[in-house]
Amino acid sequence: MMAKDELPPLRDVIRRHGLSARKSLGQNFLLDLNLTARIARAAGPLDGVAVVEIGPGPGGLTRALLSEGARYVVAVERDARAIAALGEIAAHYSGRLTIIEGDALTIDITAHIGGGPARLIANLPYNIATALLVRWLAVEPWPPWYDRMVLMFQREVAERIVAMPGSRQYGRLTVLVSWRCEAKILFDVARTAFVPAPKVTSSVVRFVPRPAPLVCSRANLERVTAAAFGQRRKMLRASLRSVAADPLALLRPAGIDPSARAEDIPVAGFVALANALESSEGEVVSDARNRGTSQGGPR
Ligand code: SAM
Repeated sequence: MMAKDELPPLRDVIRRHGLSARKSLGQNFLLDLNLTARIARAAGPLDGVAVVEIGPGPGGLTRALLSEGARYVVAVERDARAIAALGEIAAHYSGRLTIIEGDALTIDITAHIGGGPARLIANLPYNIATALLVRWLAVEPWPPWYDRMVLMFQREVAERIVAMPGSRQYGRLTVLVSWRCEAKILFDVARTAFVPAPKVTSSVVRFVPRPAPLVCSRANLERVTAAAFGQRRKMLRASLRSVAADPLALLRPAGIDPSARAEDIPVAGFVALANALESSEGEVVSDARNRGTSQGGPR
């Protein structure tokens, strides 16, 4: 039976193009067009919006994005076998689908989206999902080029993204996300919805960029969270030794109890630590300058 968009069923597409799923590419395909339409709709009205999709594969979500009214879709796919299958969708939706064969971890997508609102919507390859998310959170300048992201992760990763301080799931990823975005789990997708079925349940997560995140250097936020959560069972006065010779010199100005552990500290606390690190290193450099010595060189 033909689908609503009059393109062939995805099982036929997969068979004709020899798209047997490859684990190395994190391939778990969604073949139910009702489900892909639900994901597309979860991203809000798409009229006039340019959508960036990572990993379209055989194109189930791509088709939903186009039939839900996206102005156009830029789809980045690493698997050369999928490109011909996607070409059939591009022909059907003339001028509205650009397919880029490439690696989403390295490509500069902003060169392809033009002006107007843009949105990232994807059923991500699980093996690089977190790396992609961290990359999109690091976009400069901020606010970013996208007005929201709607992304599918393994449920366990989604729980880490939206975790609350004090919980087992609260960690570096939570802090980096919630510093710059408001994140919410929208709904779960059963493992049986995918072909092949992964081992675990998935979740669709929405990210809305904060227009004005608390001010700090992203690099320093990454450093303090890496140190603090790298040894999450230790007190901060011990775990922060990897970034500062005297952690108390960071913890005191940040107003944080030196015996607290990383998982007790809200995002604002890590921002204060990142700023204290910046000040302390600025002092080291200016002290050295005042003494006429140099501690310079790139860090
Ligand atoms: N969107 C399709 C769907 O929902 O059925 C496929 C999703 S599948 C979980 C992930 C897709 O990402 C695969 O098509 C895979 O080939 C692609 N992929 C894997 N690594 C990639 C990378 N580095 N850059 C771009 N695409 C990648």
